[in-house]
Amino acid sequence: MGSHCCGAQCLLKYNSESVIDILVSVQNELSGFSRDEKKNFMRDKIRNCVVPVSLDKQQSDAKNFHYLWVIGSNEQMCIKGVCRIAFCNAYGIGHTLLETLCSEVKQGVRLTEQVC
Ligand SMILES: [Zn+2]
Repeated sequence: MGSHCCGAQCLLKYNSESVIDILVSVQNELSGFSRDEKKNFMRDKIRNCVVPVSLDKQQSDAKNFHYLWVIGSNEQMCIKGVCRIAFCNAYGIGHTLLETLCSEVKQGVRLTEQVC
C-alpha cells in the first residue's frame, strides 16, 4: 500500500501503523468527490505544499519555490516530505494530472506575487 515510490521508500520511514491510518484518512477525505471536486481539492492541496526557497530579496523571483509534499490534512497526522510519486500514490492521481495541477498552481503563485 503505497510503499513503492522513488526507491527511498518514503512511507517506510514512518511507523507503518500510522502510515496506514493516514492513508485511510486520505481515502476517506477523497471519498464522494466527483472528478472535478477532486481536482479542485488536489489543486488546493498542492498550493499548500508550495514552500518558498528563500524569504529574502530573491522572493520576487517566482521560480524560487519548491514543493514539500504532505500526505494528510491533519497536522498531527500527516506524512511530510515524501517524494511526488508517494504523494500521487496516496491520492490516487496520475503523474500527468499532478504536472498539470502544479503548473496551474505555479501560475497562480506568480499572479499573486505580481499583484502584491
Ligand atoms: Zn519516495
